[in-house]
Amino acid sequence: MYLSRIREALPVVRETLERAAERVGRRGQEVVIVAVTKGHPRAAVEAALSAGLRDIGENRVQELEARVAEVGRTAATWHMIGHLQRNKVARAVGKFDLLHSLDSQRLAESLAAEAVERGLTLPVLVQVNTSGEETKSGFTADEASDAIGRVLGLPGLSVCGIMTMAPLTQDERVLRAAFQEARKIFEDARGLARFEPRHLSMGMTNDYAIAVEEGSTMVRLGTALFGERPA
Ligand SMILES: *Cc1c(COP(=O)(O)O)cnc(C)c1O
Repeated sequence: MYLSRIREALPVVRETLERAAERVGRRGQEVVIVAVTKGHPRAAVEAALSAGLRDIGENRVQELEARVAEVGRTAATWHMIGHLQRNKVARAVGKFDLLHSLDSQRLAESLAAEAVERGLTLPVLVQVNTSGEETKSGFTADEASDAIGRVLGLPGLSVCGIMTMAPLTQDERVLRAAFQEARKIFEDARGLARFEPRHLSMGMTNDYAIAVEEGSTMVRLGTALFGERPA
């Protein structure tokens, strides 16, 4: 079921990405698709991999852990995209290739300590809350530049970009404003020592074409690839 679904959905997604990229003089292939398998069974991960996707995103440590154990640590590039509680840092470290959701200084310090202890460098994106919604985590745009500076001062972390979640709305102006804010933070950070401007992670099923027009280099797609999540 998952395989037929993704085989149908992926060409549509790629076409949408290509068109959005073309509108702003970019190429769709530059944009990394992270297949968000949260809430779906292992079969979804396997379907994504056999459809040729390589990047898998989970938003909870427990699910990430289960998927990595089932499918294999090196079978995919694993993305931790959800809020990471500090008491789960030790469990999570070693199981992801990129953390999208570095959303507080305290979390950054915990991750840095764990990384140093294990002799690892952890690639992270700083999450910026551009929606103004209190339920979403991340640094506000006002805090972001200082926060990035402080995180860059920690050992054991490689800060390689910015992530944001736009509000859930169909209002294109609101979506564009959120993505533009994240883009500006990303561009402004380019000048900071040790910042590696590799990924601007923005765009979900509802808004990924707009996100790409506004400069996204990485979209996180669940519903567009797998359909609605099982209840
Ligand atoms: C669930 C989730 C997504 C994917 O959402 P869809 O709307 O299903 O594409 C992307 N990013 C994060 C952080 C998520 O939690």
